[in-house]
Amino acid sequence: METKIEKVNPDRIDEEIIEEAGRLIAEGELVAFPTETVYGLGGDALRPEASRKIYAAKGRPSDNPLIVHIADFSDMERVAAKVPAQAKKLAEAFWPGPLTMIVPKGDAVPYETTGGMDTVAVRMPGHPVALELIRKSGCLIAAPSANTSGRPSPTEAKHVAEDLSGRIAMILDGGPVGIGIESTIIDLTEKTPMVLRPGYITPGMLAEVLGEDVIMDPGIIAADDTRKPKAPGMKYKHYAPKAQMVIVEGQEDAVIAKINALSAQKRAEGRKVVIIATEESKAYYEADRVMSIGSRTDEDAIAQHLYKLLRECDEVQADEIYSESFQTPRIGQAIMNRLLKAAGHTVVQV
Ligand code: AMP
Ligand code: MG
Repeated sequence: METKIEKVNPDRIDEEIIEEAGRLIAEGELVAFPTETVYGLGGDALRPEASRKIYAAKGRPSDNPLIVHIADFSDMERVAAKVPAQAKKLAEAFWPGPLTMIVPKGDAVPYETTGGMDTVAVRMPGHPVALELIRKSGCLIAAPSANTSGRPSPTEAKHVAEDLSGRIAMILDGGPVGIGIESTIIDLTEKTPMVLRPGYITPGMLAEVLGEDVIMDPGIIAADDTRKPKAPGMKYKHYAPKAQMVIVEGQEDAVIAKINALSAQKRAEGRKVVIIATEESKAYYEADRVMSIGSRTDEDAIAQHLYKLLRECDEVQADEIYSESFQTPRIGQAIMNRLLKAAGHTVVQV
């Protein structure tokens, strides 16, 4: 299959292109599109064959459910058996935006879309191209991240093309995404609302709007694989570049000294070393490549650049990757969740 790539300016959407993309979705084909978090791979959420195609194109395990994207809150009733009162509150505060809610599944949603689960994940994305595509297609759109399973999520159309060219009908190129890490997932089917995947919207923000406690899934806080996370997708080693990555944590000077020592040692063995640093620290490192993720004081930039850098590590054929730790105040937990997975939880404390 030839994959058509169309540029769309999010500020001045070309209606004809979105109409064509919407038609493809309605016909059961797959279209990748930008959202504010990462690029999604979309298909008709209510059609089992479309969901099967999504799993096949990504090489995704079929027990890993898809998120259903809607453009109007009223569509929640089409996919949910029951819309919890909390969903309305959260939607008013955060939709359209980077928040996915897990609710009981309605009959219209096939088990292919929910990976066999009796609950369904729903999100209204905060990106004009995504919203227009949902509306124009006349469908609800099942869309996981538009990467090959196991590779870092795509934050640019180029990443989607790298992974899925020839396997899907169309890619809408709306430029680089704004947030860069996947949506926060909150499970509203638990007695106490539970965050299954940390993201841009924090548990504190959710608790404030709900006026009740919000807990973090213990399975994702665990520093290893001893507890199983509730979101099936969170159990996979994900987001990983091909080379082994090591995160070095501690006082800045000690981190720099340690990473430089490791780098020198590996380079002496003829290994190609990449270091992930910040604008502030990059000048102090020696390696085959030193990449800056952004300023340490700008956590939004760190999130935005993370996956792109992980992909670049593959591009330059790194043998060893050393990264600083980014325990930033607000979304540090979401950033470190991805970074730790990319490193297979290999952390050196100094
Ligand atoms: P992606 O769209 O690639 O970001 O992946 C969707 C994430 O949502 C995966 O981690 C899934 O396991 C998770 N997810 C989707 N539906 C459900 C559900 N019904 N219950 C728990 N987790 C879900
Ligand atoms: Mg994904």
